[in-house]
Amino acid sequence: LYSKSIDVVDFEVQNCIEVGSYIEQNKIQCEYRPVPACRTFWTERSWSRASKALDRLNKESPELGQKVAAISEKDDLAKANVQPSCSGATLTQGAAGLWPYKYVSWILTDLIKKGVLNLQTNTPVLSIEPISAPDSDQSPKARYKVVTERGTIEAHNVLLATNAYTSHLIPSFADLIVPVRETMTALKPPTSQAERLPHTYGFIGLARSENGSSSEYLIQRPFSTNKTEGHLMLGGGRISAATIPSVGQSDDSLIDSSVVAYLCSALPSSLLLGDDVPASLTADAAWTGIWGASRDGNPWVGDVPGYPEGLWVCAAYTGHGMPNATLCAKAAVQIIGEENGGGDGVALALKLVEGGKLPRSYLISKERIEKARKLPDVETQDSIGILGLKRTGAAEDLGYI
Ligand SMILES: Cc1cc2nc3c(=O)[nH]c(=O)nc-3n(C[C@H](O)[C@H](O)[C@H](O)COP(=O)(O)OP(=O)(O)OC[C@H]3O[C@@H](n4cnc5c(N)ncnc54)[C@H](O)[C@@H]3O)c2cc1C
Repeated sequence: LYSKSIDVVDFEVQNCIEVGSYIEQNKIQCEYRPVPACRTFWTERSWSRASKALDRLNKESPELGQKVAAISEKDDLAKANVQPSCSGATLTQGAAGLWPYKYVSWILTDLIKKGVLNLQTNTPVLSIEPISAPDSDQSPKARYKVVTERGTIEAHNVLLATNAYTSHLIPSFADLIVPVRETMTALKPPTSQAERLPHTYGFIGLARSENGSSSEYLIQRPFSTNKTEGHLMLGGGRISAATIPSVGQSDDSLIDSSVVAYLCSALPSSLLLGDDVPASLTADAAWTGIWGASRDGNPWVGDVPGYPEGLWVCAAYTGHGMPNATLCAKAAVQIIGEENGGGDGVALALKLVEGGKLPRSYLISKERIEKARKLPDVETQDSIGILGLKRTGAAEDLGYI
């Protein structure tokens, strides 16, 4: 909550409420639970930046500031299951954890059962081609051809929710949305762990790296004394331990074994997990996923400049889509619906911004693209620790914001 502008923070809070109430209303079994987020800082510099950002939040929005507590005393850290070598941590209320695949699968199944969704799995779109002379008999007129190996469909509007892979279909976005390969592990909890961890966890600078992009994140599955459950789902480790490139990489079949080894040993040294914890935990599973890094740190939502009308994007959450994607998609669909009905999509987009229903910084425009291209490229931002910009404070130190 303390590392972004207030309109973005408000929007993320709205997303969390929207997703949580949808899950509760529909009783979706996806391991959803409201749970405070504990963000831990392992270098004095990163902790000092976080403290400054928190001071700023308290000044700008005392109401939001109330949701965040800063702790650095050993006793307080111990209560949060954090080792005393940690420089400090924040505890944020209003956060939640869930199993995204179960959540998304439920939604897709529901829409298919209702007969409102035609889902074609394992069918990559190969290209999207403008139709130069739309058939005037069709209403509304098809403006694009969507080409797949299994056939072509025509559409009046095409909305790309292709995240990291967007530039495959819109090459001009190649430097604006960049794929990044990240590692995940499902670690067996140590036998000495008595209770499920009380928070989700973020780790900044755990390997004592000053690169602000260095982060790991943890959520524990429902805990049980049956050790086939309660997996510690730990991801990250790229900056700390990677031996193969990750930025610009979209192949999720590769796993960097040194990152997996690093993740296996990361928790015993950072969290209090019981009396008899081995130096390294066992990974029951390890895999990689691809997230979409935005060059200016914000998602891209809206119609695509330089293309005929009817091509839309909603993508690039820079590893942070859970509290963004739902309401970004809702806004995109509302704007498309407004235009379909003969209304003014641009006017509606501005109304959504003014009503706090979409941050202005998320809207696509030619000006924003030009401004983003003045920033260092994503790989450079990653190497100097400012990817995601406002999150770390490092961008300010380096004079980028
Ligand atoms: C390891 C890892 C950990 C993460 N942890 C967190 C976290 O803790 N919190 C958080 O908020 N976010 C996290 N994220 C980011 C989060 O997963 C994304 O922000 C979120 O999944 C974005 O949702 P999306 O539907 O927009 O895109 P995606 O989930 O990336 O889905 C894009 C879809 O588009 C499909 N697609 C792409 N190209 C084509 C094509 N040409 N034709 C057809 N289909 C296509 C893909 O197959 C994919 O299914 C993490 C990401 C990774 C990789």
